[in-house]
Amino acid sequence: MIVTEEQVLKGKSLSELERFFEALGQPRFRASQAFRRINRHLAQSLDEFTEFPKALRATLADQGALPELPVVKSVLSEDGTERFVFDAGHLGRSEAVREIEAVWLVSPRRRTVCISSQVGCTLNCRFCATGTMVYRGNLETWQIVDQVYELIRRKGEAVTNVVFMGMGEPFHNYENVIRAAHILHHPEGLNLGARHITISTAGVIPSIERFIKDREPFNLAISLNHANAAERGAIMDVDRKYPLDKLLEVARRYTRTLDRKITFEYVMIPDVNMGPENAARLVKIGRSVRCKINLIPLNTNLQGWRRPTAAEIEEFQSTLLDADLPVFNRGSPGKDIDAACGMLALAGATT
Ligand code: SAH
Repeated sequence: MIVTEEQVLKGKSLSELERFFEALGQPRFRASQAFRRINRHLAQSLDEFTEFPKALRATLADQGALPELPVVKSVLSEDGTERFVFDAGHLGRSEAVREIEAVWLVSPRRRTVCISSQVGCTLNCRFCATGTMVYRGNLETWQIVDQVYELIRRKGEAVTNVVFMGMGEPFHNYENVIRAAHILHHPEGLNLGARHITISTAGVIPSIERFIKDREPFNLAISLNHANAAERGAIMDVDRKYPLDKLLEVARRYTRTLDRKITFEYVMIPDVNMGPENAARLVKIGRSVRCKINLIPLNTNLQGWRRPTAAEIEEFQSTLLDADLPVFNRGSPGKDIDAACGMLALAGATT
């Protein structure tokens, strides 16, 4: 049986479901009933659509309405972080399995799911393991929301935050990512607050512009990773296309137009971006853009780089704190199971 994208109900927005049921000659309210069953009650079978007439359920049953991402494996860390590897299906005639990952993160008041937006990534950030994987394509909307749904089911707990910081560049899969974020935010779905959903980009300027123009309500994070315009391109290819000065310009426009802070992520790499001069430049940026800065210690040893020592982290961070900038050290939850930032694809992923 061939299931076309049109027939998959999971991952459709409410208005897409309305059009779908209208085309079947069904009343409009079927759309909101279906939306709730799928996105709030996380239905796994059409049998759970109890308000639907049997005949209608039977028609939909033939159509692969509720696909699921199979979990290939999961690994639990000592700190409560859990890494889930999913099989995102096959591409065309290729036999290669397309594996993606999502990570469950716990902190005293939060349950956060970190999700993937692509299988692999077309960007090549020198410090990131996902960049070493073969890129196999964008995820569909249903494959994005289903990572969250599957983790909620498995953990038996509610999620408070979702971050698009897993594999891939969310702003290279803009439409599916934004549609997924709206579904997670929808009051008839999980009803996650827009500020509890964070989309992180390495700096794809046209997508950031679109995000501003559409006044998307979600948090935006930019992976800055270097404060020096002449050097950022050496660790992040994307900087050659969308250079730092232009990126900062658009970040400023985001804060002014939407009257919000932007988040900058900064992966700390000793001998690369942690010197006093780098810290001074980062202070300058922090003063010129309304932002919050998340520092992440390097978690991989790609390029022969190493993780910063506690003393190095403290020294770098203190320059920023002395300048009164809101700086946080995100640490490396899940490091022992290769689930920390930039480690996805390190172990267990197929290329
Ligand atoms: N492509 C998007 C989404 C991925 S987010 C982006 O770049 O924003 C992944 C985050 O982990 C980014 O903030 C990135 O800077 C950080 N990161 C990548 N590799 C890392 C590594 N080896 N150690 C620590 N952090 C890393």
